[in-house]
Amino acid sequence: MNIAVIGAGTMGNGIAHVFAQNGFPVALIDVSADALSKAVSTITKNLDRMVAKEKITAAQKESTLKNITTHTTLAEGVKNAGLVVEAATENVDLKCKIFRELDQLCDATTILATNTSSISITKIAAQTKRADKIIGMHFMNPVPVMKLVEVIRGYATSDDVTQTILELSKKLGKIPTEVNDYPGFVANRILMPMINEAIYTLFEGVAGVEEIDTVMKLGMAHPMGPLQLADFIGLDVCLSILRVMHDGFGNPKYAPCPLLVNMVTAGHLGVKSGNGFYSYQKDSKEAVVAKSFKK
Ligand code: NAD
Repeated sequence: MNIAVIGAGTMGNGIAHVFAQNGFPVALIDVSADALSKAVSTITKNLDRMVAKEKITAAQKESTLKNITTHTTLAEGVKNAGLVVEAATENVDLKCKIFRELDQLCDATTILATNTSSISITKIAAQTKRADKIIGMHFMNPVPVMKLVEVIRGYATSDDVTQTILELSKKLGKIPTEVNDYPGFVANRILMPMINEAIYTLFEGVAGVEEIDTVMKLGMAHPMGPLQLADFIGLDVCLSILRVMHDGFGNPKYAPCPLLVNMVTAGHLGVKSGNGFYSYQKDSKEAVVAKSFKK
C-alpha cells in the first residue's frame, strides 16, 4: 500500500521513517521545503544510530531511505495513496481545510487518518464525504521508539477501516489500542492535566523545575519529569491540546496555566525553540539547565 504523510515536523518524519522501514513506499509532504530537507536529515541520523547499534543493517538503512520521496504539494504527494496520515500543525481550521482537499484529491477508497493529539475525529470527518474512512492514528513521540498507536474511532468510522488500521499498526511493530472520539482521547486526557498541574505547581512557587521533575521521576518511576516531557512535546502543542479539552468539556479543570500561556506567547516552546522549562543546545534534546521562574 502506498502511504502519504502530510507534515514533516517532529511527528511526520518519525511516521514516514517507520512506514518506510517496514517496506511501504512513503510520500512525505510539507508546505516547507526546509522542513522536508530537515526531516530527511533527521531520518538519516536516526537510521545511522540504528545501524551503529546493530538494530538494522546498512542495506536496510538504504532501502528505508529509498522508500521515501518528498513533495511540497498535496496533489502530487497523495496520488496513488491507499492511506494518508496527516501530521500537520495542530490547528483545527488547517486540518479541516486539508481534509476537504484530500477528499477531492484522493481515490474514493483511500483511508484518511490524522495524527491529531486532540482535535475531534468526528469534526474532521464531517469535512468530507467519506466519514466512514476517517480515523485517528495517534503515534507517540519519538515514533520509531514508542510502541503505542492510539487508534481513535470517529462517530462514523467503519469497523472495516478500524480493523485495517489496527492490523497495519501491528505490521509497523506497534501495539494499537482502540479508543473513542472524545476530547484528548485517552492519552492526552490523562497526561495533559498532569503536565498542567506540574506547571501550576511551579507557577505557585511550591517547588522549582528540577524538584518537580525529580519527585515525579524518582517517586512515580516516570522516565522523564512532566516539565521536561512538556518541553519535549512542545509547549505550543500542550497549550493547544489543553484548549481543545477546556472547550470540549467546558470544565475549568482543564484551563491552561497562565505561565504556559505566557511561555508560548514569548516563543519559548521547549526543545524545538531551544528554551522552555529547560535550555537546550542547538540540535540536541539534552536538557541543560533548569530555568529559574518568577511567578
Ligand atoms: P510540528 O510543528 O513539528 O510539524 C508540523 C509540520 O506541518 C511543519 O513542518 C509544517 O510546515 C507542516 N505544515 C503546516 N501546514 C501544512 C500544510 N497545509 N500541508 C503540509 N504541511 C503543513 O508539529 P508536530 O509536533 O509534528 O505535530 C504534528 C501533529 O502531530 C499535530 O497534530 C500534533 O498534535 C500531533 N502530535 C504531536 C506529538 C508531539 O509530541 N509533538 C505527539 C503526538 C501527536
